[in-house]
Amino acid sequence: MDLAPSTETLALRDDVRAWLRTNLPWEYGTGLPPRHADLDSEVAFLRRWQGELARAGWVGVTWPTAYGGRGLGPAANFVVQEELARARAPELVGRIGVNLAGPTLLAHGTDAQKARWLPRILGAEELWCQLFSEPDAGSDLASVRTAARREGTGYVLTGTKVWTSYAQFADWGLCLARSEPDAPKHKGLSCFAVDMRAPGVTVRPLVQATGEAEFNEVVLDEVFVEDVRRIGEAGAGWRVANSTLSHERGVNPRQLVIHMQHLEELLRLAAGGGAFDDPRLGRRLAQAYVEVRLFQLHNWRSLSRLEKGLEPGPEGSILKLYWSEMSQRLHALALDVLGPAAPLWHDAHDNPGDGSWQRSWLYYQAASIFAGTNEIQRNVVGERVLGLPREPAATAGGSSGPGTVKESGRAST
Ligand SMILES: Cc1cc2nc3c(=O)[nH]c(=O)nc-3n(C[C@H](O)[C@H](O)[C@H](O)COP(=O)(O)OP(=O)(O)OC[C@H]3O[C@@H](n4cnc5c(N)ncnc54)[C@H](O)[C@@H]3O)c2cc1C
Repeated sequence: MDLAPSTETLALRDDVRAWLRTNLPWEYGTGLPPRHADLDSEVAFLRRWQGELARAGWVGVTWPTAYGGRGLGPAANFVVQEELARARAPELVGRIGVNLAGPTLLAHGTDAQKARWLPRILGAEELWCQLFSEPDAGSDLASVRTAARREGTGYVLTGTKVWTSYAQFADWGLCLARSEPDAPKHKGLSCFAVDMRAPGVTVRPLVQATGEAEFNEVVLDEVFVEDVRRIGEAGAGWRVANSTLSHERGVNPRQLVIHMQHLEELLRLAAGGGAFDDPRLGRRLAQAYVEVRLFQLHNWRSLSRLEKGLEPGPEGSILKLYWSEMSQRLHALALDVLGPAAPLWHDAHDNPGDGSWQRSWLYYQAASIFAGTNEIQRNVVGERVLGLPREPAATAGGSSGPGTVKESGRAST
C-alpha cells in the first residue's frame, strides 16, 4: 500500500480547497450548511449547490471528460470527497445519479443514452432514484416481481417498489423488472430508465424514524417504457443491476470524513461536559478514536487496490460492515455523553447540538440495512473472503429463505 500522495493529488487538494474557501455558502472550517424547514426547500438548495459544484468540475471527477467529468482516477476522487466533507458540504442531492445510475450508464448504456442522461446528472438538472427493492425482494434482489410486458415499441411495467430514496424528487428511476417470466430467476430480468412523471407512476412518501420522509413506496401501474430506455440487453438486467450494486461498496471517503468530524465534535462535547472524568465513558471515547482511525486505514487499503486497477472485490463488504457498526457505537456513545439530554429533540433547553446528535443516531440505525444488510455482508465475508462453506441452495419453488440470498446482487457483489 503506497500512501504517499502524488504531486498531482496534492495540487488537486489545494485547488478544491481554494475553490471551497471562496465559494462555500457558509464559513469555511467553522460554519455549517443552513437548516431547512422541510425537505422540499432543502432539495431546492442542494440542487443549486450541486449545480455550482458541477460547473467548477467537482462532481463526477472520475467520469470521462466527454460527459462533463475530469477523467481522473479513484485517488483524485477520494481527495475531492475528503475536502468537500471537511468543508462540511452536505451530501450531493443527486448522489444516486452520480454514484449509481451514472456509472451503470457508463458501463451498459448506448452512446445515445449516455449523451442524453449523463451530462444532466452531474449538475443535478435531473435527479435519479434506484427502483430495485420490493416488498419481497431486498437482500434477495433477484426475486423482483415487477413485470415488464413486451408491447409495441417498448414494455409495460407493473409492480410495487419500496424504500426508494428521493423518488418524490426524481426525474428518472433505474428500475429492475422481470421481462421474461418463464426464464430462470436471474435470467429473466431487464433494467429500465423509468420517467418518474409518466402516467401510471405513483410515489408515496414513507416517514422514517427521524420524522423525515426521504424514502418512498413507488407503484408502477401499466407504465409504458420505450425500448430506447432499456439499459443493457433484454434479459441482462441482473448483470446491469450487479454493476450498479458494486458501486455501493468499495472506498467510502465521505463516511470517513463525516465520522472524523463526528468524533471531533464528540470529543469536544465530552470535554465540555466532564465525560472524561467518568472512566467508563473515557475508555469508550478512546475506543471511538481508535475505531475511526482504523476505518481510515481500511479506506486507504481499498483505495490503494483501486489505484492499482483492481476491483474492490468482496473485501468491500468488510468496509461496509466495519463503518456501519463503528458509526452505531459512536452514536450510542454520543447519547451516553449527552446523558439526561439524550431523549431531547430540536428546540429543547439544555440540549447540546440542538437535536443533531439525536437525529444522527436515528439516521445511522439504517446504516446496517442500506446497501446490503450487515448479515449479508457477513455472509459475503464468510463465503468469499474467508472461504467458509456456502449457504445451502434454495429449494426449487421454495419461499425466499436464507439460501436464496447467496445468488442475489446485494449478497454477491
Ligand atoms: C435508508 C434506506 C434507504 C434505502 N434506499 C433504497 C433505494 O433508494 N432503492 C432501493 O432499491 N432500496 C433502498 N433501500 C432498501 C435496502 O436496499 C434494503 O432494505 C436492504 O437490501 C434489505 O432488504 P429488506 O429490507 O427487504 O430486508 P430483507 O432482505 O427482508 O431482510 C430482513 C432481515 O433478514 C436478514 N436476512 C435476509 N437474508 C439473509 C441471509 N441469507 N442470511 C442472514 N440474514 C438474512 C437481513 O439481514 C435482515 O436483517 C433502502 C433502505 C434504507 C434503510
